[in-house]
Amino acid sequence: MTPAATRKKAATQRSRRASRLSAAEIETMFARLKALNPKPTTELEFSTPYELLVAVTLSAQATDVGVNKATRKLFPVANTPQQIARLGVEGLKPYISTIGLYNTKAANVVAMAQQLIEQHGGQVPRDREALEALPGVGRKTANVVLNTAFGEPTMAVDTHIFRVANRTGLAPGKTVRAVEDGLLKVVPAQYLHDAHHWLILHGRYVCKARRPDCPHCAIRDLCRYPDKTPGEPDTIAT
Ligand code: SF4
Repeated sequence: MTPAATRKKAATQRSRRASRLSAAEIETMFARLKALNPKPTTELEFSTPYELLVAVTLSAQATDVGVNKATRKLFPVANTPQQIARLGVEGLKPYISTIGLYNTKAANVVAMAQQLIEQHGGQVPRDREALEALPGVGRKTANVVLNTAFGEPTMAVDTHIFRVANRTGLAPGKTVRAVEDGLLKVVPAQYLHDAHHWLILHGRYVCKARRPDCPHCAIRDLCRYPDKTPGEPDTIAT
């Protein structure tokens, strides 16, 4: 490597390091997010691990509000793998037809119910590999279920968390998996269980994809995003 290339590489590394939050800043960030919302949870409505698994499966490319509307009608009729399997794909579709990709999702949810009955005694397994082997279940869904149904400190990185982790400098990464691994490394243990809820909610309501609400953001002074939305809290137009 030429001396110029070495200098350039060192400068790039310095700037990468500078764009990351320090451990003290991360502690402050989560302390503030916690103060604003001490007991965060998913906005999906559920009362059992199976209901959560179905709701998360339905929520891909759909809003939590839309999924809740559908499951409020579905769960009183069928909220166990046995009941969903009995309903069948055609019986399930009318309940979820307002949700995007409902044909595929209906097929997955029924196949998932059958697999749970055949391989797991009708229970949701507390095991990543078994969860990811279910139809329609990927790493993110498995992480949500492990975290929210079983209390494990997993990090389900969705589009909101990916954006917040990169913009703020909390855990920059080019891929979802890189951000997930980065977050697991830097989030202090005491905040790990609830961190993904705080970050999702922050991304959904404050650090929005278009025109983030930086003037009203509780972590603005910590955030490394160079293109913050300008304005003072009292003067910004809404
Ligand atoms: S200051 Fe702006 S970009 Fe940074 S976290 Fe807050 S809303 Fe997002």
